Amino acid sequence: MKDSCFNEYDPNALDVENALIKILKSIKTKKSYESVKLKDSFRRILAKDIKAKNNIPNYKNSAMDGYAINIKDFSKDEYIFDCIGESFAGHPYKGKVKTNEAVKVMTGALVPDSCNAVVMKELVHERENMILIKSKIATNQNIRFPGEDIKKNDSVFSKGKEIDEIDIGILASLGQSDVCVYSKPVIGFFSTGDELISVGKLIKKSQVYDSNRYLLHGLLQKYPVKIKDYGVAKDNLTSITRKLKKASSECDLLLTTGGVSVGDADFVKDALDKLGKINFWKIAVKPGRPLAYGKINKCLFFGLPGNPVSVVVTFNLFVNAAIRKIIGQTIDNRLLLEARLESSIKKRKGRKEYKRGLLKVNNGNLSVRCLASQGSNILSSLKNANCYIVLDESIDKVEKGTYVKIIPFTLESEHYE
Ligand code: AMP
Ligand code: MG
Repeated sequence: MKDSCFNEYDPNALDVENALIKILKSIKTKKSYESVKLKDSFRRILAKDIKAKNNIPNYKNSAMDGYAINIKDFSKDEYIFDCIGESFAGHPYKGKVKTNEAVKVMTGALVPDSCNAVVMKELVHERENMILIKSKIATNQNIRFPGEDIKKNDSVFSKGKEIDEIDIGILASLGQSDVCVYSKPVIGFFSTGDELISVGKLIKKSQVYDSNRYLLHGLLQKYPVKIKDYGVAKDNLTSITRKLKKASSECDLLLTTGGVSVGDADFVKDALDKLGKINFWKIAVKPGRPLAYGKINKCLFFGLPGNPVSVVVTFNLFVNAAIRKIIGQTIDNRLLLEARLESSIKKRKGRKEYKRGLLKVNNGNLSVRCLASQGSNILSSLKNANCYIVLDESIDKVEKGTYVKIIPFTLESEHYE
């Protein structure tokens, strides 16, 4: 007799945390790396630590348009200086500036060594080659010092960091033209199901547009990986085996959707039994069980469920963690939040649930509403949501007003390592 998904509580089911531990233990980071142009490094993973080759800023400069002054006595309310020159960004004043002398400076222009304050131009009265200042002056005011942002030889980035747009800006300001990043792994996928037809074709009753391949393509685009779409396999052993063989020989990681359940047309298990070492896990998660995970030769494999919401949830939970490990991303910027529940939720004990929720900020407080449609086939539940509400296995009811764990959708997983 085949297993059943009927029971909510299954003592043999694996919990999310342990499934993740097993998955991550079995994966090694791809060791190869390459050098890419800085502009092409967006979302790639740094393969080497980066130290600052220079100070940022690189020289003492002005934070204002105004006058750089050499001043000894800061106790007065009124000052007169001789203005002896000008310093523009890229065109520094090269002469000496003695006590009670000033140089007109633009923002970012070099401030001469002997100057110890910059006074903004709005506070200065200029008359011929003299300036009059009627305000208090503080030592080093409006001066940006070398290394104030980043010091030469400081460690700026550690390997394993995903490069974002800010990082690209920082690397550019360090003068870095090329960056050493991990190579892109190849990730392939295909759908299974006789009911599936391709987008763009006329749909008949009893057919379903193959949305999973598009979901997976979109989900994978966030990572530095080469994506391969292997189309659709029919619900028979030959078709699934043929595709598994070809795809697994070309990919580092292969994903399939559908056919891993306990129905009469679920052939993925039979095909995999012949080809690889695969575990079929009933995971105590909702939506999302069952899940197949293992290897076909050197290719890692996930057999995801067929229902689209389950595809997204299992991808976010497990495939994301696996990809992060493969690509060498070790820096974890996850943000787990807590929010007040707007109305009570009921669930059955036994599975960790990832309900789709709508997170809002009310007067600075986070509150979350659980969306009405939670079926694993209701993809619009994900469209209308902006977070997961995470409810542990042991919980069966959460009262209105209780604080619950939230994962905003911009963050893919609770766990990276
Ligand atoms: P299965 O796990 O193959 O029994 O599929 C479970 C449910 O997901 C069924 O209702 C399928 O029609 C649906 N499904 C499976 N694959 C896809 C797909 N690629 N796109 C949209 N729905 C799918
Ligand atoms: Mg199917």
